[in-house]
Amino acid sequence: MVWAEAPPQQIKEARNARLKDLSVEGFWPSIYLSEGEIMKRLLGFLLCFCLLGANVAIAQAIAIKAGRLVDPEAGSVLADQVVLIHENKIQAVGKNLPIPADAKVIDLSQMTVLPGLIDCHTHLADGPTDDGDPLSQLKKTSAQVALESVPNARKMLESGFTTVRDVGVYRALNDIALRDAIAHGYIEGPRMFVAGAYITITGGAGAMTGLAPDIKLPWDLHYGEANSPWEVRQKIRQLAHDGADHIKVLSTGAVLTHGSNPKSQEFTLEELQAAVDEANHFGLRVAAHAHAPRGIKNAIRAGVASIEHATLIDDEGIALAKEHGTYLDMDIYDEECIQEAGRKGNIPKDFLQHDAELGQIQRDNFRKAIKAGVKMAFGTDAGVCPYGTSGKQFAFMVKYGMSPMQAIQAATTSAADLLGHSKEFGSIKPGKYADVIAVSGDPLQDVSVLEHVEFVMKDGKVYKTR
Ligand SMILES: [Zn+2]
Repeated sequence: MVWAEAPPQQIKEARNARLKDLSVEGFWPSIYLSEGEIMKRLLGFLLCFCLLGANVAIAQAIAIKAGRLVDPEAGSVLADQVVLIHENKIQAVGKNLPIPADAKVIDLSQMTVLPGLIDCHTHLADGPTDDGDPLSQLKKTSAQVALESVPNARKMLESGFTTVRDVGVYRALNDIALRDAIAHGYIEGPRMFVAGAYITITGGAGAMTGLAPDIKLPWDLHYGEANSPWEVRQKIRQLAHDGADHIKVLSTGAVLTHGSNPKSQEFTLEELQAAVDEANHFGLRVAAHAHAPRGIKNAIRAGVASIEHATLIDDEGIALAKEHGTYLDMDIYDEECIQEAGRKGNIPKDFLQHDAELGQIQRDNFRKAIKAGVKMAFGTDAGVCPYGTSGKQFAFMVKYGMSPMQAIQAATTSAADLLGHSKEFGSIKPGKYADVIAVSGDPLQDVSVLEHVEFVMKDGKVYKTR
């Protein structure tokens, strides 16, 4: 598929660059150039050439000395490795590699080095998580929410997550703005892949609910509402045009939505099939929020790439996920934060009622799915727990049936596969982005050391060091 090579934004940029090239050629046919003009252009060309040369000289090579290096592709740990980095890419990895004399050496020989982590279920662009109530969004302008999201992105990156799949935002398209601001280097944060908005039924799990019926919401607080297969398609066409990287649909009710029932089905099978078909036209994959068994199975049968939460998945659902190769993205840690918020009175009471018993059932079903060999990706619903604490989920994944290596793979190679970007990140291999983190201690012995990432490099640039 096209998008496996480049996300839509990059495709768009490449297309714009091609158009620019064409217009230059068409506008200045060389036979019309005067002698003076030719000289001017030649000088300009030489100047560019010199600057380019200077740039190449400035880009210093980096050599990381890794005491232990985790290779999630092979499921192994290598000792005393050297990682050579040129600009934003990994150039070579191996033992006793010759280090170029002018390379900057980063000594992590006392640490365990891993590929940058990936969280496949975040909500970075929703601002601060003050009181856990979506209705708080109504007290702020869209710009305010976007700017208050800047620290979320920074905390996520500093905790070792160099890439996120962000799966929905209340103020539509704020996530696209955040993604692009990070990509341009205006602010610091992980590489983001975003949904643009929630595709949800009216009054559904992704809608802004709990308001009187005569309150009129601004466009961006109900952008993704759809109530038929053709409305679903229309929303996806719009979001693809807006620059979304994937589509998020809400297949069942939710815990953290007023008036919602996580055990209810929302979209029909036909609507979910329309979502997957239409998204595929644009090279986009679909992530489906689903707690209830029927909504989970409808989404798998429709061909979504991942089920988010998968809380009440039954044996048939587990078998179907395995058969279809569907990823489960089970946020089994955030129950801790929901319960703590309940004790502090920082969460609406109806949300706690929705949540009763679901947390433990989800953890037990996670264990069942691991045993059955279903594909698992690491996703935390970051925003439910404070940003920057996603690493706490690793210990729970191990507690409920994964080996430490499986938990690391869920957040690296498997996550990259779910995103369709295995060639670009997910492991420390030549040609991939230089996304590298390091921790003290051995995460294969005690995976909780990943809660304290001490070194973070994204795209060849160091963002955190001891
Ligand atoms: Zn979520």
